Amino acid sequence: METPTEASPVEPDISHINPADEKTWFGHPRQLARLFTTEMWERFGFYGMRALLTLYLTKHFVFGDREATGLYGGYTALVYLTPLIGGYLADQYLGFKRAVKFGAILMSCGYFVLCFGGPAAKPYATIEGQRYEVQIETVAGEETQFLVDHGKLLRIKGNEDGSIALMDGATVARSLPKGGLVPGGERNPFYVMILLTALSMISVGNGFFKPNISTMVGELYAVGDRRRDTGFTIFYMGINLGSFFSQLLCPLLADTVGWWAGFGLAAIGMAFSWSLIQFDGGKLKGYGDPPVRDGPNRAIPIYIGALCVVPIFYFLYVNLMNAEPQVPGSGIIGYIASLSLMGKMLFGTFIIAVPAILIWSARVGDKREFQMMLAAMVMIVFNVVFWTLFEQAGSSLTLFADRNTDLYVFGLFRISAGQTQFFNAAFIIICAPIMSLLWNALARRNLEPSVPVKFAVALILVGAGFLFLVWGASMVGPTFKVAIWWLAGLYLIHSVAELCISPVGLSMVTKLSIVRIVGMMMGLWFLSISVAQYVAGIVAQVASVETVGGQVTNLQVSLNTYTNVFWTIGWASALIGVVLLALSPLIRKWMHGVQ
Ligand code: GLN
Repeated sequence: METPTEASPVEPDISHINPADEKTWFGHPRQLARLFTTEMWERFGFYGMRALLTLYLTKHFVFGDREATGLYGGYTALVYLTPLIGGYLADQYLGFKRAVKFGAILMSCGYFVLCFGGPAAKPYATIEGQRYEVQIETVAGEETQFLVDHGKLLRIKGNEDGSIALMDGATVARSLPKGGLVPGGERNPFYVMILLTALSMISVGNGFFKPNISTMVGELYAVGDRRRDTGFTIFYMGINLGSFFSQLLCPLLADTVGWWAGFGLAAIGMAFSWSLIQFDGGKLKGYGDPPVRDGPNRAIPIYIGALCVVPIFYFLYVNLMNAEPQVPGSGIIGYIASLSLMGKMLFGTFIIAVPAILIWSARVGDKREFQMMLAAMVMIVFNVVFWTLFEQAGSSLTLFADRNTDLYVFGLFRISAGQTQFFNAAFIIICAPIMSLLWNALARRNLEPSVPVKFAVALILVGAGFLFLVWGASMVGPTFKVAIWWLAGLYLIHSVAELCISPVGLSMVTKLSIVRIVGMMMGLWFLSISVAQYVAGIVAQVASVETVGGQVTNLQVSLNTYTNVFWTIGWASALIGVVLLALSPLIRKWMHGVQ
């Protein structure tokens, strides 16, 4: 890949273009500018909302960590599952432009609906069957929970062994054994319904928007046009510019004005994205049009069908939230059986599709085709591991930022936990051009790593990012909070990892696939990310910390919980990366020269 900087040594091949009849944008078809801004504003909405979601669930709705991170994982899983169908429908019937417009409207409405969160849920605690009100007060800059006992405020202090002390000033008024205080939240089911409806609308809308705007970018370039990769790099910049600004602004509004304002800004950004494609002033004329086919216009039934999926997703979310925790020792089958319907559906399809497609390719393809498919499948499976770790960002890492990170920047000002999400976008914007130059420089010396090596590096780095944070956590003082720079360091390492895997993955799979099933393989790639989001939710659930009123009761316990999980997944991913590195010469052979 290359970037459009003057320093770039590789000039784009635009020899087939007659400059007299085509205006260009940075040497690219000018339509790219409109797609860039449309996607930038869409991601503005998407990531702005994502930066808020987990905190909204734990603080406004007072869900426990397990429920909040599970729901977050389910939401992002569906967000990555729907492009499979949205892409197909656009391909066959709607055309990409119409699909993008419809998706934009649905997503914008979804964010808008999120503004209606109602009054904050009331936290409470049950002790020996009796329910007590819980109040959250800010003490010395920290949100602290108090139990209201006959009008008296008792500070809830968690101990390292999980027991709880109710403190009256400095004296222990009452001691409770582990599990003796059961936290809860009194929330209005109507607003939970609104929340789940909004999430359903966004996940359906994203399926129409996200894959199809990317396909439109691809449409701008003729087969063999060398500018294509650069075009996608520029587009990736748009994605991260949008997410950069929204991840700073939406949490800021949520903190200073209210949750509704943060979500409202996401909705406005998304509506702006819609207006850019809806009123394109003819700029996108001739691109993303519906396929020419006989027969009735299917657009309206498709729109209605999509709206009908909203209640189905709603049902899947409810089912997910009601799923019982897995029983340890029930084996892999028992484990899958205990998953929510969504989990069964995702895992089931993935576990069946991977071997089935391979068996099919062995039967219909020759040895070369089979080996190429095998290489693609290996990447798809390793892809699950990468995104599972990477996607802790919006859930466990955001909660970690909220609880165990000192969010003061140079001791001058404090950023909010949701705002820490902007690091990834910022580092992508900084590193993408550098990495492009690096790959180019290596390529000129015939040293550019192969795709499996890049995948392996990504896995090692994503694990290393967590180990880096754990290292920082080993040095904390009595506050049990790591300096924000450790978190920033993790995001820097993760962003470099993302650049090793994300821009190359999908195009690689399409190149390795047997032509007849390339669409299915693209679908499988998205499915692998979707499965990863779900698993990411499960991992974040393992990192759950006991909270009362959305706040942890003991910072040391929460730090230990996070570091244990991050340590385990960090090493696991790094080792899996090393295994892939060892396998890479073999996989490269199976790729038969595809780069
Ligand atoms: N950050 C990129 C985007 O939002 C890639 C995310 C992904 O593929 N999981 O498009």
